[in-house]
Amino acid sequence: MPAGPPPGPEAALHAPWDRIYVVGAGPGAPDLITVRGRDLLAAADVVVYAGSLVSPDLLSWARDDAEVFDSAGMDLPEIVRTMADAFRAGRRVVRLQTGDTSLYSALAEQVRPLAEAGIPVEVVPGVSSAMAAAAVLGCELTLPEVAQSVIFTRMAGRTPVPEGEALRDLARHGTTLVLFLSAQMIHKVVEELAAGYPPETPVAVVYRATWPDQKVVRGRLDDIVQKTREAGIKMTAIIVVGPVLDQMALAPEAFRHSKLYDPAFSHGFRRGVRAGEA
Ligand code: SAH
Repeated sequence: MPAGPPPGPEAALHAPWDRIYVVGAGPGAPDLITVRGRDLLAAADVVVYAGSLVSPDLLSWARDDAEVFDSAGMDLPEIVRTMADAFRAGRRVVRLQTGDTSLYSALAEQVRPLAEAGIPVEVVPGVSSAMAAAAVLGCELTLPEVAQSVIFTRMAGRTPVPEGEALRDLARHGTTLVLFLSAQMIHKVVEELAAGYPPETPVAVVYRATWPDQKVVRGRLDDIVQKTREAGIKMTAIIVVGPVLDQMALAPEAFRHSKLYDPAFSHGFRRGVRAGEA
């Protein structure tokens, strides 16, 4: 894939592009797209957007005369053909996808046929719904001595997960888990997680993070299924699991702060103050 920044908005508006841009739209709120993504959208002649999850409000950044395709009803060859034909006709093409392009985005299968057709693609990242959910929860997914790793995963559904990635195996790590595409099967999620997490482990479900109808459900492993059902949440939700979710409830002395801002810790940008020093 070609490297380097995209053309600035001025150049982009007037020059043809030598590549197709795949842009992460962010989780929903139109102002959570990156500035780069927004500028590309503003310059595009053709926008192919994933209407099942990308808010139509994002299209307010596109020109009124841009041609817009909703990929929700299209299959892969149609999506690729639409982009390739427009590109070959000298039009500026943006493929707009939900959240970030690196997670459950079908990026690889779109880029490969374009590359085979000699059409370069550049990816512009976005705010994943996982990050948006953490922000909505006001929570750090990594806390010193509580969790220093985050597992992004999903419950096996129609798409199976590779061997060794079964939820019950991942649960053994006891660290922070972020689940996509699994709210519909939350009862199964909980069954699997019980293999590694105690029943009182905090769980949060964030539905349509940053959309106007966003909902947040907080509970524990042993009551989250019922709470999620009561809230009527079946899809478009992120499930966050792990002791880090208790961080707001913890007394400051109950968990270790990161070394970064520790007064006694020296690093490249700051010399630490030892006990007894002013
Ligand atoms: N690439 C996307 C994920 C696409 S897979 C990203 O980075 O966010 C689709 C799944 O993402 C949904 O099933 C749901 O689990 C999650 N999702 C997408 N948008 C969401 C939102 N606004 N709030 C909560 N979950 C969301």
